[in-house]
Amino acid sequence: MDRRGFLGAGLAGTAAAVTLAAPHVARAQETFSWKMTNAYGPGAPFYVTGPGSPTYFCDLVGKMSGGRLTIQHFAAGELIPALEGFDAVSSGTVEMNAANSYFWAGKVPAAQFFTCVPFGLNFQGQNAWIYHGGGLQLWEELYDPFNLVPMPLGNTGVQMSGWFRKPIEKVEDFKGLKMRIPGLAGKVYAQLGVDVKLLPGGEIFPALERGVIDAAEFVGPYQDRRLGLQKAAKYYYTTGWHEPNNVTELIVNKTAWNSLPDDLKEIVRAAAMACNVLSHTWCEATNGEAMADLVQNQGVIAGPYPAPVVDKLREVSATTLQQLADSDPKIKKVYDSFTAFAAKHSQWAGLSEAVYQTQIRRGS
Ligand code: CA
Repeated sequence: MDRRGFLGAGLAGTAAAVTLAAPHVARAQETFSWKMTNAYGPGAPFYVTGPGSPTYFCDLVGKMSGGRLTIQHFAAGELIPALEGFDAVSSGTVEMNAANSYFWAGKVPAAQFFTCVPFGLNFQGQNAWIYHGGGLQLWEELYDPFNLVPMPLGNTGVQMSGWFRKPIEKVEDFKGLKMRIPGLAGKVYAQLGVDVKLLPGGEIFPALERGVIDAAEFVGPYQDRRLGLQKAAKYYYTTGWHEPNNVTELIVNKTAWNSLPDDLKEIVRAAAMACNVLSHTWCEATNGEAMADLVQNQGVIAGPYPAPVVDKLREVSATTLQQLADSDPKIKKVYDSFTAFAAKHSQWAGLSEAVYQTQIRRGS
């Protein structure tokens, strides 16, 4: 081959390489400008701002993608009302929304299992089910008819039973009690005679302080202290049998999702996983200090319900979940997967985390 021929072949080769790489290069230069709405109001720590929060996620995706995917965040009320995210993302008005899946129980009853289940899995177990136990596939299957792709974005970890103006000494003390308690737990308490009230976070303190309600659950020590609930009630029951963990849900419009190149999809998934860990660890880091402050400085009496009360709540939770599962095959499918996984995980946790927690206490 003479020099000219060699150059010619080389040039031809380069041209072919350019032609082959062109779609990839074009995709790598393509930019996406998305919007994310949120069920929670402006400035709310964990739910909107702070480490691992939805605004943190938006910044992270922008940085990880070198600006190829930018997401503008809107807290509740800034673009749409708090609970319209599901429809807004489904229709493509916005590409993403952050909320809790149990808000959509009216549209997709089985969605509740992807936030938390009374006496269900804790943070480790819930994530184990979602990431490794078939939970995510079931969640995707459930949301597919709505043109939505779901994934976990954060987690509060274990919550607290809540605040009571009077102590709970026996199951009968629930009768006639007016309590702010959403979700499946509300159905459980209702069967024990509680008058269930659904109030948004901002209305809990004034209602409890004025005696419009006798009891309320919100989140945990850090978030509850921020609302000032300790000034309205002194009995703080631990722990969150009703919400042993609480998943922040990210939903993505499926058409928009499919338009992303694979690397941006992986960036979104990886950023959401990073926020899941960061948000949960932030809650773990802040709740300890808040609980100590509430008990030591603010006269709060914290402790678990008496054992017979917990036993009754567990019993009624099991029948409530079973009835829910029996009401709809779609719920049954999720319930079966969740309960089978939870039984195995609980056995493992009972021999590992539970034993460890007892051992470290014995030494203290
Ligand atoms: Ca809660």
